[in-house]
Amino acid sequence: MKQPENENVSAPFSLDGDDTPLARELADLSARRRALEQRSVQLSGRTRVLTVSNQKGGVGKTTTAVNLAASLAAVGARVLVVDLDPQGNASTALNIPHTADTPSVYDVLIDEFPIADIVQVSPESPNLFCAPSTLHLAGAEIELVSQVAREHRLRTALEDYLAGEGQHMDFVLIDCPPSLGLLTINAFVAAHELLIPIQCEYYALEGLSQLLGTVGMIQKHLNPSLHLSTILLTMYDGRTRLAQQVAEEVREHFPREVLATVIPRSVRVSEAPSFGQTVIAYDGQSAGAVAYREAAIEIIQRDAPSATPHNEEA
Ligand code: ATP
Ligand code: MG
Repeated sequence: MKQPENENVSAPFSLDGDDTPLARELADLSARRRALEQRSVQLSGRTRVLTVSNQKGGVGKTTTAVNLAASLAAVGARVLVVDLDPQGNASTALNIPHTADTPSVYDVLIDEFPIADIVQVSPESPNLFCAPSTLHLAGAEIELVSQVAREHRLRTALEDYLAGEGQHMDFVLIDCPPSLGLLTINAFVAAHELLIPIQCEYYALEGLSQLLGTVGMIQKHLNPSLHLSTILLTMYDGRTRLAQQVAEEVREHFPREVLATVIPRSVRVSEAPSFGQTVIAYDGQSAGAVAYREAAIEIIQRDAPSATPHNEEA
């Protein structure tokens, strides 16, 4: 059969039988959906704090933070999303009001409000919480410079919050702005794990050494427990050779950190925020939602101390 000339165009649908790329893709997706229904997960009982960071803009940080959070909440985890970006995109996607007068992360960082006073529950799930951001946060980057313990403010507030009664969280996901300023540094000091979303495009790895260099400095001076635990490939278009090459290159450099799950480029994923929803609520059976649900399970399972249930251990 003649191949399509443009590699971005999918192969034409054939009536010869079921063995077309599209039919195979659909069969694969329904098998993955069924597998997800049968998956049961065990949470560790401790809180994992992950910062979703990459100083490169538009690589899928916010999309990853909110959709992983919703996927984790859907399997029973209690999840707090900290929106550390003045753009407030994570708050929007979780349908959390964040007008200028809303108590927000700004008040926590600058005026030492307890996080409990700003947290809101997402209408999407009683397990899904959000510490919203407002536009004021744009000024925090500068205001923090003259503050005492400016790098530790989020960490202290988070520790106080998590120690409070009824405030246990299985996961805290911090959505960072696209910069390596004081807001992101507060996230690096507050977190144990770094999750880097990498867009499968040209220049994907550019800037990564600067990011990892900053993380090295944080480990040395401010937070020895921070480590790169997870890399997630986003906006993957398997029909382009470029996306395949980028994915291969990232896996070569970071064989242990890259999740097996790859997030496909999907219209449903990009549409969901305009409805104030994650893709999990918007279209939970779509390819993008299925991938985020698989990624969430992978993240939970990577933390499992062993594949053997505790009660079967010698
Ligand atoms: P910023 O650096 O501005 O904070 P970001 O890294 O948080 O950006 P997102 O806002 O998550 O990136 O994504 C950038 C754009 O790409 C958004 O319009 C989003 O809807 C879109 N997008 C993200 N992931 C996907 C995907 N898997 N498929 C299609 N579109 C996507
Ligand atoms: Mg963002």
